[in-house]
Amino acid sequence: MAVLEIKDLHVSREGKEILKGVNLKTGPGEVHAIMGPNGSGKSTLAYTLLAHPKYEVTKGDILLDGESILELSADERAKKGLFLGFQYPTEVSGVGFSHFLRTAYNSLSKAMQGDNREVFITVREFQKYLKENLEKVGLKEEFLSRYLNEGFSGGEKKRAEVLQMAVLKPKISILDEPDSGLDIDAVQAVAQAISKVADKDATIIIITHYARILKFLDKLDFVHVFARGQVLKTGDASLADKLEAEGYEWALEQSA
Ligand code: ADP
Ligand code: MG
Ligand code: MG
Repeated sequence: MAVLEIKDLHVSREGKEILKGVNLKTGPGEVHAIMGPNGSGKSTLAYTLLAHPKYEVTKGDILLDGESILELSADERAKKGLFLGFQYPTEVSGVGFSHFLRTAYNSLSKAMQGDNREVFITVREFQKYLKENLEKVGLKEEFLSRYLNEGFSGGEKKRAEVLQMAVLKPKISILDEPDSGLDIDAVQAVAQAISKVADKDATIIIITHYARILKFLDKLDFVHVFARGQVLKTGDASLADKLEAEGYEWALEQSA
């Protein structure tokens, strides 16, 4: 269980300010959507949360359970239960997917001891656990013998990311455009996989340009309109419908 709090966050890339005072708070069990036009800084926010070295925090703070994580590396943040999916490079050439997942799972479990996670699962135990999760996200077992991201279709890659999320059980997952480049059937499949993985204690933040993936989710608690490097407006799921029907302009004008 974790509470993420982003306070007046200002972030620059190569000297140019992109995030201009982001405020956002998420709690356990909540599903959030961040929606906004292209180039508004959504991916910048995602990368900053995971400590991408190109993004410099110039003001504000990111708190996890009340403690600043600004000084922590990407790896240390991951070990605290943060997960960034989809736009993060996951290519690990020559490493079997299940081996990769088992190593990552065990490393995380060791870091998160006391969080009711199993540690040192045997290969056989882990395979059983993995199989259950494969079913959850709608992937076949033969998927495991293929190498990570080699020869996967767009939809498979994204489901593989959801599988990774299901297996690792992060406290907070940030999914950057899980719907980009997918046809409508694949979007629905990915949304269903996300819903199945959503846990009563976990937080899921979905960054997207389009409302279509959100419609397929079992639940959506908050929608944030993101533009010009800020969260301009927050509402419930109906805000996504309004954005789809009327575009971003009205929200931008309202807050101008
Ligand atoms: P979004 O994810 O909402 O489309 P991004 O966070 O990717 O937005 O980009 C926000 C802004 O950051 C862009 O408008 C652009 O000006 C700048 N930006 C993005 N990528 C780069 C880059 N590789 N180098 C320099 N500036 C960039
Ligand atoms: Mg973009
Ligand atoms: Mg983006």
